[in-house]
Amino acid sequence: MSEMFTFQAETQQLLDILIHSLYTEREIFLRELLSNASDALNRMQFTQLTESDVLDPEAELKITITSDEEAGTMTISDTGIGMTREEVIENLGTIARSGAKNFIQALKDAPNSEAAQNIIGQFGVGFYSVFMAADTVQVVTRSYKPDAEAVMWEADGGTAYSIEPAHKETRGTDIIIKLKDDAKEFASPWKIKDIIRRHSDYIAFPIYVGDDED
Ligand code: ADP
Ligand code: MG
Repeated sequence: MSEMFTFQAETQQLLDILIHSLYTEREIFLRELLSNASDALNRMQFTQLTESDVLDPEAELKITITSDEEAGTMTISDTGIGMTREEVIENLGTIARSGAKNFIQALKDAPNSEAAQNIIGQFGVGFYSVFMAADTVQVVTRSYKPDAEAVMWEADGGTAYSIEPAHKETRGTDIIIKLKDDAKEFASPWKIKDIIRRHSDYIAFPIYVGDDED
């Protein structure tokens, strides 16, 4: 059963800005998603030192990006800590935990649109930056906590998102993106590798990039 939620007013404001005004730097959405995957893997690595009862204790800590250029889809998967249903609502429904609040403030203070364009490069706009390139986003996630169930969060950049139970056997998070028509270039493995090289070189976990097999 799918349940609908409304984004916090500030989140709606941020989504509106990201969708309508800032196109030049939009490749940074991939940087943000990889940064989140890396954080989730770091947290999993740390958790494994202190907790013994975790889902998939033997799973390789890694990031996998698959894409389909023709369909204009891409998926960023990690075997990190994952999220419970409550964590999804807190983390992907509000902007309390991200640098986005500072971003909105700086944007308000920006003298013109050119200045505004530059601001996005300086702030960790975070997860919501995916809507610069995405028509729809699904987040399918399963927490490392052995009894937690998998959930799917879905949004199209409008005022609401939905959450429903999902099927996912393994620990971690899949971000499934349907790219905007004018953003299909991001499904190219060559382009993805180029962005990783320029923005995400610091990530300490393997990042596998490939075409969708199916
Ligand atoms: P920040 O990374 O600055 O906290 P984001 O907007 O990038 O802000 O992400 C918001 C939150 O969503 C993160 O703090 C994290 O709790 C959660 N999150 C995002 N992506 C993932 C992921 N791949 N795995 C687990 N949690 C995630
Ligand atoms: Mg982040």
